[in-house]
This record gives sequence, C-alpha cells and structure tokens, in this order.
Amino acid sequence: MRTPLIAGNWKLNGSRVAARALASELADANPVGEVELLVCPSFTLLSAVHDVLDGSPVVLGAQNLASEPKGAFTGEVSGDMLVECGCRYVIVGHSERRTLFGESDADVARKVAQALASGLTPIVCVGESLAERDSGRAPDVVRGQLDGALSGLSDAQLAACVLAYEPVWAIGTGRSATPDQAQSVHADMRAWLSARSASAAHAVRALYGGSVKPDNAGALFSQPDIDGALVGGASLVGQDFLAIARAAAA
Ligand code: PEP
Repeated sequence: MRTPLIAGNWKLNGSRVAARALASELADANPVGEVELLVCPSFTLLSAVHDVLDGSPVVLGAQNLASEPKGAFTGEVSGDMLVECGCRYVIVGHSERRTLFGESDADVARKVAQALASGLTPIVCVGESLAERDSGRAPDVVRGQLDGALSGLSDAQLAACVLAYEPVWAIGTGRSATPDQAQSVHADMRAWLSARSASAAHAVRALYGGSVKPDNAGALFSQPDIDGALVGGASLVGQDFLAIARAAAA
C-alpha cells in the first residue's frame, strides 16, 4: 500500500510573513490520517518555513534545482543546498519550467540525477498540452517524457522517484481532468514502470495535478493508480489544502 502524498506547489507566491502563517496553519492542524503532506515554497522562504514545520509531520520541498552540483552557474541552487535548508523533495520538470524556461527532457533527466545524488526525492512532472490531447497523442507524449527523464536510472533510483501527471490544460485553469482521463494516463504510467521494474511499479507514487480542489479530490483519489496530488492554487489556502489531504486519507 502506497501512502498518499499531497504536495503543495506554492509557485512564485508569498512573503516571509504569509509563508510562515500558512505553514503554521498546516503544522498546527489535527492529523489528517495516513497521508504525507508536503509544501514547496520559493527558495528564499525555505528556511523560514522549515523553522515553522520543525517537529510537525508536514515536510518541505523545493520547486526546482540546478542540473549541476556546483560551479559557475549564476543564479542556480543545488540539491545539496536544498538539503541544507531542510528539503526532502524537489519538483522537477514542471510544465511551467518546460514551457516558460525551455527545460528539455534532457535537462529534466540531469535534474532528477542531481536530486537523487543529493538524497532528495524528485517529483517528476509530465503531461500533455491541449493540442496534444485533442489529437490523441497524450499517451505517447507522457511515455516520451518518462523515457526522456528516467531511462538512465537504475531500478532502485526509479523506485525512489515520485511521478506527477499534470495535463498542461488543467493547470491553473479550473478545468481538472476527469477521474477517468487521469486514471487512464496513470495506468499507462504504471505500465511504463512495470516494463522497467516490478518493484518500482509497486513503490512509485503517481500524483495527479491540475486544478485539484476539495470538491473534486475524492473522486480523483478513488482511482486505483492515483496516489495523491500536486496542488497549485488550492495549496495556498490552508483549509482547502487540508481538505484535499483528508480526501486522500479517506
Ligand atoms: C501545479 O502548478 O502544479 C498545479 C497543479 O496547479 P493548480 O492546482 O493551480 O492547477
């Protein structure tokens, strides 16, 4: 049985004061049950949020990391630096990184390798655009992104990853994939994992992301291959994020 993971991607939002307040609301909440809660604030907020979360069951992650461990890479933040800030997870290959910042599958593969080398769990994001879905290419696109990002990993490294299926057309639009649409891609991802390694297919948690809210979370989590959610907008509202977590625990 895979413990569900509910991950909040705070994106480019929040001040120190607001981030500490949101983190306190989550840290002080009643236990939500058998579910892991994760928040991913901006780099500059990591240490402040870590201080607030210390001793609580809520864990910390980052939204991105450098594809290199150190050196002349101005503006970059390495996996080891994230670990020093208290991070356990890092989001890799989010569609906003791919489309707005030109990250390729090869970049994503390098970042996954760096995350694992630093002892971080990468949350590897994949997902098709609306045009790709409308032309029936969603399964191929997702499979191609999995090949591009993960094919160089050993079975043990693969088993240490989390996957997130995030259809680009569902992110921040209020239009979630239906539970059937999401399950269909998740089943494909599980089959892709099985073809590589039975133990990875059993262990890897596959999250759904794209306009997850308290009112659609339960139906998504009732699908057999959906092991939690990567949540954007609703993760900025403490009670909504907790309601989604409770739906995953139910
Ligand atoms: C995301 O950015 O990963 C995301 C899923 O956003 P939202 O929940 O706002 O669609």
